Amino acid sequence: MATKYIFITGGVTSSLGKGIICASLGRLLVARGLRVTVQKLDPYINVDPGTMNPYEHGEVYVTDDGAETDLDLGHYERFLGIRTSQQNNVTTGRVYYDVITKERKGAYLGKTVQVIPHITDEIKAHVKNLGESENYDIVIVEIGGTVGDIESLPYIEAMRQLRYDVGRKNTLSIHLTLVPYLAAAGELKTKPTQHSVKTLSESGLSPDILVCRSEYPLDDSIRRKIAQFCNVEIEDVIASLDAESIYEVPLLMQDEGLDGRVIEKLNLPAKNADLVQWKQFVEKVKNPKSEATIALVGKYVEHHDAYKSIVEALVHGGAVNDSRLNIKWIQSDYVNDHNVADLLGGVSGVLVAPGFGDRGIDGKLAAVKFARLQGIPFFGICLGMQCAVIEFARNCANLHDANSTEFNESTPYPVIDYMPDQRGVTEKGGTMRLGQYECKLTEGTNAGSAYGKELINERHRHRFELNNELRDTLQQHGLVVSGVNPERNLVEVIEIEKHPWFVGVQFHPELKSTVNEPHPLFVSFVKASLIYAGHVVKQEEFKNNQPV
Ligand code: GLN
Repeated sequence: MATKYIFITGGVTSSLGKGIICASLGRLLVARGLRVTVQKLDPYINVDPGTMNPYEHGEVYVTDDGAETDLDLGHYERFLGIRTSQQNNVTTGRVYYDVITKERKGAYLGKTVQVIPHITDEIKAHVKNLGESENYDIVIVEIGGTVGDIESLPYIEAMRQLRYDVGRKNTLSIHLTLVPYLAAAGELKTKPTQHSVKTLSESGLSPDILVCRSEYPLDDSIRRKIAQFCNVEIEDVIASLDAESIYEVPLLMQDEGLDGRVIEKLNLPAKNADLVQWKQFVEKVKNPKSEATIALVGKYVEHHDAYKSIVEALVHGGAVNDSRLNIKWIQSDYVNDHNVADLLGGVSGVLVAPGFGDRGIDGKLAAVKFARLQGIPFFGICLGMQCAVIEFARNCANLHDANSTEFNESTPYPVIDYMPDQRGVTEKGGTMRLGQYECKLTEGTNAGSAYGKELINERHRHRFELNNELRDTLQQHGLVVSGVNPERNLVEVIEIEKHPWFVGVQFHPELKSTVNEPHPLFVSFVKASLIYAGHVVKQEEFKNNQPV
């Protein structure tokens, strides 16, 4: 079967949740037995989001192959249960970079290099290459930005051309739009949708299906009006109302018949959707048997998107434990030894987040110390693990003023130091230790028990690591090294003795947690937190020790 391409554009405003709609449609098509992937086309000029501030862009999602990508790829992986790669995220910066590199090599010798056809050809090649790479049944192509934006134009034009390159019947155009409620008039308004569809149609990509975000249900007369003025059938006007949980969206889209319309229009050989496991998960998310509060300590907490995958991994881990984890967002800048008990007093677990730079480090160290001394389950991720090592070195191993050389280059005890291959690297983009690496776990540790196996693979994004020259000293004082990269002998997981659950990981486990495969460390951390909160009775798999 020829690969089919579904283009998803957005209109009227940004933030309509295009990524969730793409992921939800993907889930429904996967549930019908089809081989699906999702690609994000981002119209900005950065080559990738790796150099962008989390306030600007939210989390940088790292794939197995080490690509630094848009956080929507996280939704695709979590919803569809697939693995994405560099090919799944294309930016204008990358497209121009590739075209200009080719131009310098003489690939277009004699030609004037232009947006059309050279940039549009490059965009089309990225889309088709992904489809052909694994012979997918379907590639869902999410076009970032809003229709009418200047920077989206080459993408819309490329998709218009692609419709004819791969055959009109092998493509579908879905437009996500907003039907706002005007309180003064007491009604839903269709005009913004009409204008958005008009703009899209002027570019030659008229939509086959409209997904209409709305705060209120769309009645028949509104649907008929939208259908009539936007050149679609009434069955192709799909309402997308606000949902309690993003994980409900696939079910709501199924109720509205979105997957059915797609299957029919693309003439796909699809079976009935199998959503049994998905429905059970949504049920657990919506009706948990218990609740607990986790403190998430980080410096970007005003912008929750900066920690998107962590938040979702906690939802997955919560569902496995029939529980909901409420997050208490703690701005690390404001935490110190005096207020830490007030801030973290009632929580059942402490998660210290990843990050870069020295802002908020003292607050993170205070949070680690509090969790360690109080025996509160602690989970340190990347920078969070490094903070746990620094705190342990200073307060348990007599290494006064121990630090990471990221924060103090002349510290007497550089317990966290530059990785050798990072020394001398001056360029910022794409130069960290990135992507998936193997890690060997020690049996009987909390990490070892959580995974239930010895060899694991996890994704990385960092420049610094635990300094092997000080490893023995730390271990002599009770730091447990429970995971090591076998190839390079790098410390990947640390724990401490005499604590119910204290785990720091140099990698990013949150990036691999999906609905169908919740991450074992998150499942285990949530369970330890529920035990601490008194919701669950302690079992043998957790160490029976008291806090130091
Ligand atoms: N800044 C630290 C490093 O580069 C941690 C990075 C992270 O938390 N992702 O090693």
